[in-house]
Amino acid sequence: MEYSIEQLERYSRHIILQEVGVEGQDKIAAARVLIVGAGGLGCPAALYLAAAGIGTIGIVDGDTVDLSNLQRQIAHHTKDVGREKVLSAAEKMTAINPDVQVRTYQMLLCADNIRDVIREYDFVIDGTDNFPTKFLVNDACVMESIPFSHGGILRFDGQTTTVVPGQSACYRCTFRQPPPPDAVPTCSQAGVLGAIAGMLGTIQAAEALKHATGIGQLLTDTLLSFNALNMSFRRVPLRRQENCPICGTAPTITELVDYQQTACALR
Ligand code: ZN
Repeated sequence: MEYSIEQLERYSRHIILQEVGVEGQDKIAAARVLIVGAGGLGCPAALYLAAAGIGTIGIVDGDTVDLSNLQRQIAHHTKDVGREKVLSAAEKMTAINPDVQVRTYQMLLCADNIRDVIREYDFVIDGTDNFPTKFLVNDACVMESIPFSHGGILRFDGQTTTVVPGQSACYRCTFRQPPPPDAVPTCSQAGVLGAIAGMLGTIQAAEALKHATGIGQLLTDTLLSFNALNMSFRRVPLRRQENCPICGTAPTITELVDYQQTACALR
């Protein structure tokens, strides 16, 4: 890509990194990342990926901005209450960086439409707040062989792992089934410290940038979890399971399933 003087300045702190350079910035510009959910995780991820110059960023969400979202969903401002989240987020992303092409999807992802949407992207960030969609994103990404970052937050805790289908453990290798509805409290029931969303969403954005540039090691086969009260970080090794119902040697899930919609996000 030919950079203008302005763009060289905009991306200079990336370009100066030996591991990134102009070549890495070219890869970032060519990358296509889909963010599922314009909420607590999706907002910081979207802002950092736009700032970084990811060429094409898709953002999916069917909701409108609620006043109670503003405590952590930092792409949405007070004036945006009542607006579609994807439009509010897209406006801030292009305001940070007009180089970026933002595609908005004002919809809920379901078994019927998810594969058509994710197929257009190289990497997916799962910033959803409910288990049915987390399993749907995992299964669809495995079926389409698209790497993705899983993330969940609740109260003072966060957890994340990166999945490269066919190479590393998928979400279902570790968590076979969504928990029963109401078994796990939601953020609206149990609360969440706002800054936790930023901590996790930016880890997910860093994974997307590492995937785009090919630098470092992705957070595969590892569940990173943290607790902000004592600021402890823990890495739990995960293993790909031969008998995984979706990525194993004889998958029993051959079509996508829509589980009953429940809300929110950590187990
Ligand atoms: Zn699996």
